[in-house]
Amino acid sequence: MIERVPGTSRSDLASALGFSEMAATRIVRELLAAGLVEEFESPGKTRKKKRSVGRPKTGLRIVPARIFAVGITVSAYHSEVSICDAAGEIRANRMVLNPPFETPESAARVYAEAVRLLIEEADVDLERIIGIGIALSARTDPDRCEILRSEYFGWANDGGRFCSEIRKFIDLPIEIENIANALAIAEMRFGAAREASAFALVHAATFVGASIVSENRIVRGATGVSGLIGHFRSTPTELTCVCGRSDCLNLNATGFGVLGRLGLLDEPSFDNAHLSYYAGTLLEVLSNQTATGLVSEAGACLAPAIDNIGKLLGPEMVIVSGQLGSDAIYFDGVKRALETHYDLGSDAAFRLVRGTIRPERSAALLALHTFCYSDRLDYDRLVDTAAPRSSARG
Ligand SMILES: [Zn+2]
Repeated sequence: MIERVPGTSRSDLASALGFSEMAATRIVRELLAAGLVEEFESPGKTRKKKRSVGRPKTGLRIVPARIFAVGITVSAYHSEVSICDAAGEIRANRMVLNPPFETPESAARVYAEAVRLLIEEADVDLERIIGIGIALSARTDPDRCEILRSEYFGWANDGGRFCSEIRKFIDLPIEIENIANALAIAEMRFGAAREASAFALVHAATFVGASIVSENRIVRGATGVSGLIGHFRSTPTELTCVCGRSDCLNLNATGFGVLGRLGLLDEPSFDNAHLSYYAGTLLEVLSNQTATGLVSEAGACLAPAIDNIGKLLGPEMVIVSGQLGSDAIYFDGVKRALETHYDLGSDAAFRLVRGTIRPERSAALLALHTFCYSDRLDYDRLVDTAAPRSSARG
């Protein structure tokens, strides 16, 4: 609440959360002691619908520079390690060039080394780093810190080896999450979905996947492998999907599909050894705008899938994100096809929104959401490390 509405007072907290003002005062005293929040003179009510009243009151706000989170974005497009503050602003970052994706371990070692260097050079209080978020194109079990499988990287269940390689360098809690889920969580906490409790996020890049959020939680399904819309049936193509079929959405509404139609693929089958080639070539095509027609058509191919998601789940919004999804021409292609063929806008069943958060920022925001703005906050550790500074401030 304090993060969402700076200026929230103790009595606002008490009435919104249903506990006494005394309890609110005690809890806020603890948050102050942990260096998480600070008081300031807030000019009246900051909530919507209420007119500002003249007298200033004591409001609460997050102290951005007293909590930090590390993000690791494992990607063939833009690999990065970063540190964000409690407001979600990136304070330091480091690109990871040409990471090896042969095995989870070999990749993890390169990212771990980048995190070590970043922490060495970053001007942040290391004691105040609360955790690490990892975002990658894989289905994961965050509770067990495991990669379940990745069709994109060609990895099977890693038994937690990726995360244990990271922990060898830095022993902090880790949350490892599929990139679509990480983006959905980031949009929910800091972006377009702040007011939404039920929405879907489609991540389009070389392939396409989705994340479903209901009642502010990721829907994982019975197996932990949900959101595989890349294998929805679409138009037959000359290409072959990782599943062996030639009519998957992965071959139509994606970067892989665009490259295929441009004749830029050596082989019609997706090959894990060529991830960097797919990513680099697609970025080139998008930035040069040499194939706007094909990019727009690829977007249009996504429309039936989004219509299905909309009708099945009744979301408040569908966010289209990712290196391809956030491209203006692709997004326009999706939107126009939905308006033309599926009546998007007429009865306003859901809003179609372009992603506001870049993939490389989502990993650190995932860590912040998981280890700061949740019941997994390690309060005792924060109190211990806050003590010297708060006494110095008097
Ligand atoms: Zn498929």
